[in-house]
Amino acid sequence: MILIKIKPDSVRKNPNAGKTVTYMQAGPAEASFEYRGKDPLPEWLKDGENYHLLEWGSEGIGERYFAGIIINPHDHELIKKLSEIKGMVIEQNNNYQPIHHLPERAYLYEYEKTPCKCQECKEIVFHTEILTEEIFEFDLGDKCPLCGAINSFEDLKYENINDYIKEHGS
Ligand SMILES: [Zn+2]
Repeated sequence: MILIKIKPDSVRKNPNAGKTVTYMQAGPAEASFEYRGKDPLPEWLKDGENYHLLEWGSEGIGERYFAGIIINPHDHELIKKLSEIKGMVIEQNNNYQPIHHLPERAYLYEYEKTPCKCQECKEIVFHTEILTEEIFEFDLGDKCPLCGAINSFEDLKYENINDYIKEHGS
């Protein structure tokens, strides 16, 4: 049996330990604007950059309407300028969606790169280089990256993080 040890200087407390929700960006951030009111389309909005004016016109008597999408939703200057227009509604969506998962582990760590000897070709390779032989996702065992022998290494045993913490403290 070959023991793959935890790298001592790699062990650290996971800042997200115990967390069961992670927010992932599910799509590009978006921003749009929409105006309804009495005022005409401001001059500067007629041919500016970083937005597409989608529609504008008047609805009913004296009611004006225009809307658009902002190409770069992080353009704070444009958003500020738009928000100064009375009656403007700006919608921003960062597109973050919660992903629920099992509580995150207490520690983050890496394993020591450990040399292992192939009993077939007698060469030494690191445990990270040992391949896995699979057929239809069925695990047939280790495979030597040099000679292709199957299960030619001793069994690898990975040091358990809980045992490591018990022994060394955190
Ligand atoms: Zn080999």
